Amino acid sequence: MSGALRYVSTRGGSPAASLSEAIAAGLAPDGGLYVPQTMPRLDVAEFDPHGTLADTAATLLAPFFAGDPLAEALPAICAEALDFPVPHRALPADGAHVLELFHGPTAAFKDVGARFLAACLARLPRRDERVLTILVATSGDTGAAVGAAFHRRPGVRVRILYPDGKVSPRQAHQLGCFGDNVAALRVAGRFDDCQRMVKAALNDAALQAEVPLSSANSISLGRLLPQMSYYAHAALAWWRERGEPLQLIVPTGNLGNALAALWVRALGLPVGRVHLACNANATLPEFLAGADYRPREAVATIANAMDVGAPSNVERLRWTIDDATLRRDLPATSVDDDAIRATLARHAREHGEVFCPHTATAVHVLDVLRAAGDRSDWTVVATAHPAKFESVVEPLIGHPVAIPAALVAMLARPAHAEPLSATDAALREVLRQERPYG
Ligand SMILES: *Cc1c(COP(=O)(O)O)cnc(C)c1O
Repeated sequence: MSGALRYVSTRGGSPAASLSEAIAAGLAPDGGLYVPQTMPRLDVAEFDPHGTLADTAATLLAPFFAGDPLAEALPAICAEALDFPVPHRALPADGAHVLELFHGPTAAFKDVGARFLAACLARLPRRDERVLTILVATSGDTGAAVGAAFHRRPGVRVRILYPDGKVSPRQAHQLGCFGDNVAALRVAGRFDDCQRMVKAALNDAALQAEVPLSSANSISLGRLLPQMSYYAHAALAWWRERGEPLQLIVPTGNLGNALAALWVRALGLPVGRVHLACNANATLPEFLAGADYRPREAVATIANAMDVGAPSNVERLRWTIDDATLRRDLPATSVDDDAIRATLARHAREHGEVFCPHTATAVHVLDVLRAAGDRSDWTVVATAHPAKFESVVEPLIGHPVAIPAALVAMLARPAHAEPLSATDAALREVLRQERPYG
């Protein structure tokens, strides 16, 4: 098909790939991230005003899938992956809204990307008969979402690496509760160690020959593209109702979720201003305020899923938009733990609203904008259910957070994680020892 969209590396050193190839590969061979060669353009009128989230996603993503072997299955992939609600509701206080991305099976927005990627990979033909092992390093939410998305799928198994003692107790339980083809490895180290070990395994040609490996980390296009769906769906409804673009405050770590919002705007759809909310890891706010881009080690915060000092998707951001425009148009605010705590406590006390610590960074940015006299409509993006972070949230609000049904079911299952030392050799050993149908 002549209209096929090709994908190129942000580093310019890899041949153009089809979408399927880009999704199967994850990272481009030159170490860059895949981006569409040209950004498609879409018009509001192309979307069914009565469509579901999955319908909006199928229309939105059609130009990205054009000419690809997965194109025909796109509506089915969207229906399978995006089958939970994404409410856009008014906050009681001050005319702002919240877009709740956490009503999927593991109660964080990572479910959207993980389920979509799993639905894509399940439909890609594989030449290898052996089981594909999917490695994922997680600071908490990604591992659970990937585990749930691939649980009991034939032909694949998942190995989740997480830093022992550095995820919340409930997150740890979630990571270890799947069983069957999904196993959790608790690594005696930090998240960075987990990430390094996964990368080393993926780059180990001898190991790959014995044990076919893939990854499901956040740089995969198969996770990024579907995240545009909820922004497009909310923005289109807002536009039809009010004739105004949707303005978003997005909690940000690796920049995958926020980049999806910026790409929806780049497609020509009605997303207006976007404001990034970061925790104490201030790499992005400093760069966007005019400093040189300076990636660094992450510092630990109570919004731990955003503890990123070198956001991978910056490469995609700077490929899409030039630095001068970014610095003019993309505000970003760093929010420290004290401000997160104060925000959580105040909104619970004054409005009965309970947020997760990540969402609280965005709520704090809203509070700051309001205090500076900004009365415009903002939508705060809620990335996880507060019940996932009970050990942070409950002492601040003074009462237990009701647990959503999906989490209750997971917490009722037994959980197990194997200890692993933080060396590349230890992971290699584990992967080699396992039978090909583990
Ligand atoms: C992953 C995560 C984030 C950060 O999303 P990025 O795409 O990495 O910017 C924010 N909040 C929660 C709850 C997360 O799990």
